Order: sequence, then C-alpha cells, then structure tokens
Amino acid sequence: MQVRILRMECCGHAECVAIAPDVFALDTKRKATVLDPEAAPLEVLLEAAEACPCQAITIEDDEGIALFP
Ligand code: SF4
Repeated sequence: MQVRILRMECCGHAECVAIAPDVFALDTKRKATVLDPEAAPLEVLLEAAEACPCQAITIEDDEGIALFP
C-alpha cells in the first residue's frame, strides 16, 4: 500500500492523525507525514483519506492502482 500526502494541500487539521495515529503524524510545520502505511487496514486508510478536508491524501495499491481518490 502506498499512502501519500500532497503537502501543498495539507492544511494540518489532523483528522488523519485522529483516525489512524499509527499511520499519520504532523511534522513541525503542521503538515501530515506518513509513518507506516501498513499500520492500519485499508478501510481505516480510506476513512482517513475521505475525512481529510483538504483532499491531501492519496492511496495506491502495491501495483500503483489508485484506490483513493
Ligand atoms: S486530515 Fe488532511 S489536511 Fe488534515 S493533517 Fe491530515 S492530510 Fe493534512
């Protein structure tokens, strides 16, 4: 699984961190970073991506197929 943060889009609301704290964290600039994309099941990753108010999270499978958006 590949989880990416579009840093220009991330506005630091941290919904992703609240939903999947083992996957996401905020850095010192209050931008999300990915700690471990395998630390939560896909359904939780999708929940976090859908909850992001800035559409800053993308998810691809290991073959590069887009799962979100
Ligand atoms: S929910 Fe979206 S905007 Fe908020 S910290 Fe996570 S990636 Fe950034």
